[in-house]
Amino acid sequence: MSTITPKILPSTPSATNPPLLIGDLLDSGIRMAGNNQIVYRDQCRHDYHRFRERVHQLAHTLTAQGVQAGDVVAVLDWDSHRYLECFFAIPMLGAVLHTVNVRLAPEQILYTMEHAEDVFVLVHEDFVPLLEPLASQLPNIRGYILCQEATNRFNTSLPIVGEYEALLGEQPIHYAFPTFDENAVATLFYTTGTTGNPKGVFFTHRQLVLHTLGEASTFQAPGFALLNRDKVYMPITPMFHVHAWGVPYTATLLGATQVYPGRYEPEMLVKLLVDEKVDFSHCVPTLLNMVVSADAIASRKVDLSGWKVLVGGSALTQALASRAWALGIDTRSAYGMSETCPLLTADILPQAIAEADFETQLPWRCKAGLPVPLVKLQVVDTDGQPLPHDGKSIGEVRAQAPWLTQAYYKEEQRSEALWREGWLHTGDVGSLDEHGFLAISDRIKDVIKTGGEWLSSLELESYISQCPGVAEVAVIGVADEKWGERPAALVVPEDPNNPPTADTVQEFMEQFVVQGRINRWGIPSLIRMVDEIPKTSVGKLDKKRIRTEI
Ligand code: AMP
Repeated sequence: MSTITPKILPSTPSATNPPLLIGDLLDSGIRMAGNNQIVYRDQCRHDYHRFRERVHQLAHTLTAQGVQAGDVVAVLDWDSHRYLECFFAIPMLGAVLHTVNVRLAPEQILYTMEHAEDVFVLVHEDFVPLLEPLASQLPNIRGYILCQEATNRFNTSLPIVGEYEALLGEQPIHYAFPTFDENAVATLFYTTGTTGNPKGVFFTHRQLVLHTLGEASTFQAPGFALLNRDKVYMPITPMFHVHAWGVPYTATLLGATQVYPGRYEPEMLVKLLVDEKVDFSHCVPTLLNMVVSADAIASRKVDLSGWKVLVGGSALTQALASRAWALGIDTRSAYGMSETCPLLTADILPQAIAEADFETQLPWRCKAGLPVPLVKLQVVDTDGQPLPHDGKSIGEVRAQAPWLTQAYYKEEQRSEALWREGWLHTGDVGSLDEHGFLAISDRIKDVIKTGGEWLSSLELESYISQCPGVAEVAVIGVADEKWGERPAALVVPEDPNNPPTADTVQEFMEQFVVQGRINRWGIPSLIRMVDEIPKTSVGKLDKKRIRTEI
């Protein structure tokens, strides 16, 4: 903190300085476009006024069940209008929303629910079999609300207090929400690393409101124009994962039409994209790949032109961006992580590039982008010294912003390791150019160290993905006596009956050596064709498992 003494004037005794609370985001959406709709699959739709009433009814329901400020309430659901209501009602009560990652292994789910000290649970019927065997080990949970798609009889050993719709229907449509300190914790979820137990990441009302404002201004930037009240939004990043990048809060602030797809099934996703005329989605590259490979889209029976997709969570390859562009899909990149709420950068193109054609823009569209408002980024060497913005100097990326998790929940040592010298250490390596544009080269632990050089596995993946016949690729370093490490690649062929050979891929890579983009030892010595590449619970390449399988 600086030692200067700027002038601070007293407020008049009657003045109020309202705290930044999540409930205010909802009020904004209603003022912006109260008649816009919240849609759930092909099953239900209602306007923002009804959305607010349902948030109030859910708050009454939870209060009637004894949920109080400070309690942690877990939600296990697919992406739904119900989940959106939980995003608001639970924190607006002063309670903490724990978005449970339903794709973790049962013992990890148990660990996170115990560690979070959940006292109440909302559970979709699909996840009841998962929770039934765990319930006896979670004695502090006072009750479960069942979320059902249709009202049919349901037998379970869980102590269910009622069905979501039935319970809400009994409640009044106005709740007198309290006001409280903006630094109160609003949300909590768990992120998995390469080692150890999942880590709890939490965000306050103040952080989420500021993140929402930062994201809203970014999404409305010239040339980006992803979201406003005239747009239709559908997430394809699960709501349990960093609040679907916080976009449901941003979409609500702006009053956009919101479409929730439930469980991600390619046919339903495509149906909703078309029927609801979705303008904007966000997802990891794997999900985009799944959508563009869906029969109806690849065969162009369905037209998705005009659909804008923000891709993050992993690097967007030029091959995937080009494939999407050929189908009329406009992809852009953003970068962040669970610990950063998540938004740190978005590829708001420099003016001259924004006016250029797609081919010129392509490499820029696949970079992480510019720090969004209120984010400070540095790329530092191993001594923590900032590196020049020359687009070449590569080091660890570290960040400051008013929405970064201030600690891992109940993890002192890991928290201090995350925050060193006042900066949040991302564990990613990258470079900044003269525009301040960030390019991520790799995770520190995935960088391939060969012959004294660092090779970026992401860059190699991007080049190999451009080889004809390659549908998907993952590159890792494998131990090598002479070089320390050598790159090895797993490749999923487009046509399993006619896969490219390892020689074809290696020959294809020669051009990048000739162009001086990689050294000769960047050509993987081991290339293996596989049916599938292991993915993490949120659809990213699972390099930990790939290492054990190659
Ligand atoms: P998670 O905490 O699971 O959301 O993962 C965050 C990590 O995903 C980051 O630390 C990066 O390694 C990676 N990541 C996110 N966005 C990008 C991007 N645009 N390009 C490359 N890697 C990314």
